[in-house]
Amino acid sequence: MEGTTAYIGIGSNVGDKLFNCRYSVGRINRLRGCHVTACSTIFKTEPEGVSGQDWYANCVAQVTITQRPSQLLKGLMGIESDMGRIRKKRWETRIIDLDILLFGQEIIESDDLTIPHPLLHKRRFVLEPLFQLAPELMHPVLKLTISQLLNKLPKGPSVEPLHTLATKNMLE
Ligand code: ATP
Ligand code: CA
Ligand code: CA
Repeated sequence: MEGTTAYIGIGSNVGDKLFNCRYSVGRINRLRGCHVTACSTIFKTEPEGVSGQDWYANCVAQVTITQRPSQLLKGLMGIESDMGRIRKKRWETRIIDLDILLFGQEIIESDDLTIPHPLLHKRRFVLEPLFQLAPELMHPVLKLTISQLLNKLPKGPSVEPLHTLATKNMLE
């Protein structure tokens, strides 16, 4: 399929977190004009920026997409709400969170969409899984690769890969 390569950040910290991540990848693969081409392993990560929350499961999916970013955001929000996410405030506990991290080399700043994701380069739980998929990928604003961004990152909260067995059937 012709299209743009985009990366989607996936996170869950309620219920069966691994299932939620895997299920969302299957749903992303079924969005119109969107095809999942690779997925990182799932990482167990300590919450960042908030206190008192349970750990998160995080991963990143690589997709090839023929839709525009705004269509993709709509699709992702549809999956979030189908999965039972009720949006109240930012950084709250959530069944599933689907963020567009990168969309080709596009730079977008609109009311409801900022691409690259504004915190991508500050979050180990995003950079570690992204590094598995695309270490040499260039951040279009910062002009550094994922590998370079990861090397620059201060230590911060723990981000550990979960056992690969738990994630091998991701696309089934
Ligand atoms: P964070 O941005 O820190 O990861 P969050 O994911 O918890 O926060 P949400 O409550 O899920 O934030 O989303 C808030 C709004 O962010 C959404 O309504 C959406 O319009 C907007 N948004 C802006 N840029 C993006 C992006 N690249 N991907 C997904 N949503 C985005
Ligand atoms: Ca997020
Ligand atoms: Ca989000």
